[in-house]
Amino acid sequence: MPLDIVYTVCPHDCPSACALAVERIDGVRIGRVRGAERQSYTQGVVCAKVARYAERQHHPDRLSVPLRRVGDKGMGCGAFAPISWDDALEEVAEHFTQATQRHGPETVWPYYYAGTMGRVQRDGINRLRHAMGYSGELLTICNFLTDAGWLAGVGTKRGVDAREIARSDLIVVWGGNPVSTQVNVMTHIAQARKERGAKLVVVDPYRTGTAEVADMHLAPLPGTDGALACAVMHVLFKEGYADRAYLQRYTDDPAGLEAHLRGRDPAWAAGITGLSEAEIIDFARLYGRTRRSYIRVGYGFSRSRNGAAQMFAVTCLPTVTGAWAHEGGGAHYSNHGMLPLDLTMIEGLDVVDPATRILDQSRIGPVLTGDKRDLGDGPPVTALLVQNTNPMVVAPESGLVRQGFRRDDLFTCVHEQFLTETAAMADIVLPATTFLEHDDIYTAGGHHFLQIGRAVLPTHAECRSNHAVICGLARRLGARHPGFEMTAFELIEHTLSSRKGSGSIAGRASRPGISSTALAMPTRSFISAPIGRRSAPITRRFPLSRIMSR
Ligand code: SF4
Repeated sequence: MPLDIVYTVCPHDCPSACALAVERIDGVRIGRVRGAERQSYTQGVVCAKVARYAERQHHPDRLSVPLRRVGDKGMGCGAFAPISWDDALEEVAEHFTQATQRHGPETVWPYYYAGTMGRVQRDGINRLRHAMGYSGELLTICNFLTDAGWLAGVGTKRGVDAREIARSDLIVVWGGNPVSTQVNVMTHIAQARKERGAKLVVVDPYRTGTAEVADMHLAPLPGTDGALACAVMHVLFKEGYADRAYLQRYTDDPAGLEAHLRGRDPAWAAGITGLSEAEIIDFARLYGRTRRSYIRVGYGFSRSRNGAAQMFAVTCLPTVTGAWAHEGGGAHYSNHGMLPLDLTMIEGLDVVDPATRILDQSRIGPVLTGDKRDLGDGPPVTALLVQNTNPMVVAPESGLVRQGFRRDDLFTCVHEQFLTETAAMADIVLPATTFLEHDDIYTAGGHHFLQIGRAVLPTHAECRSNHAVICGLARRLGARHPGFEMTAFELIEHTLSSRKGSGSIAGRASRPGISSTALAMPTRSFISAPIGRRSAPITRRFPLSRIMSR
């Protein structure tokens, strides 16, 4: 019997946002998960973790019914008893209403992050937040520094199409470890090495798996990448590798940059980075003489002091050599700014009160323990709704986080797939669907596709999607917004139809026989044409075209 293969999209917080081909068994279970062959970035490859997603999907410990805590916080399954969905949502709504009556709406803090990257199921919590005037949430734990550094150097959060790596002669993986964390990048690097003899350089303080397979590994001391980048640029200017015509045309102050770098030579950088002068010069010359040089920047920069400045310095390299102008050249960090989806309906952006307090997600510990630097003159947080994250484990200052969650006067509702450390601290736990059980739309950091993943399995037990929970609470709380009256797929259609010419794509994706669809951007979507023939299409909007279906 032929395998029943269904197509969807990986929802994890990973740049690859892989298009998936999933073996479906008897319509209710899954077997092996593979990469979708016809999506030209994923190319049939997924990581080992998601290849075995069946273990998670069908794990006996998955939450299956709503739970109310009857024992002490943090004591595990034995501290909970099942209740009905109606009772659970009523209880949450009642606590939120009481808290609001006592302290005002800012006492309620809907708290979420990237447990799914689907825009409907991840971001819909903001619609409830905005409609009710609950406290805002400042994102993110992960990428404030890297975003700031990249934007300072490039101006927009997008980069050269990762498929162009296959046409590069030199790939520099800087501050990332794709062998472990973005396996698809290695697919394209392997193609460039095999077909073009491309060189791979890794810049990382650690001897990572990617460094192990590189032609050159530079291991600067942590947090010294900026000094290395400056010394490399010093050599580029000094030895004639700088593309002065490109700099003149596309940058604001090339003379100022060159003057700034004059004293930052390899000897200076060697003293800071711990690298030898020879290592720095060898790398600079290799980079300088290779026009098709592609830098894949990772999130390592966000883990060090002055990470934004370090990242900014690295983004200047392809500008000094003009590598942006060559196919297979340039740099890439994230494409999350490439496709400006109109998220008004999903997030309720039309009902935002800009005067509402915004709390930093990274400081949930101090927030919950009453730090005035966070709360200001506002009320304490006395009610939490948590979706898509496990702050007891991932948030900084975990001692304070635990102390905060233990407060007797804090009411917490957690919507989760498993009884995580955070769920174990909740008063009400709601069972959540997986990405295989609900509809969503996915942008990607690592590639140029916009993808739709339809539900391909019936929901497990009594699980409900994030969207269903948000709408259920909205009804009970009296929150008003048209987004609460729409299905998840209607929200997707609405979001797509607000972009010119893309409404018909949502229609095609909903046709029987098409389980998911990938919408391709033209490969050359950045400054990736020779000067004279290319424009700098940062503000250009690309037509969407479907490239993958069953
Ligand atoms: S590589 Fe990333 S996007 Fe692809 S399947 Fe694994 S976690 Fe998901």
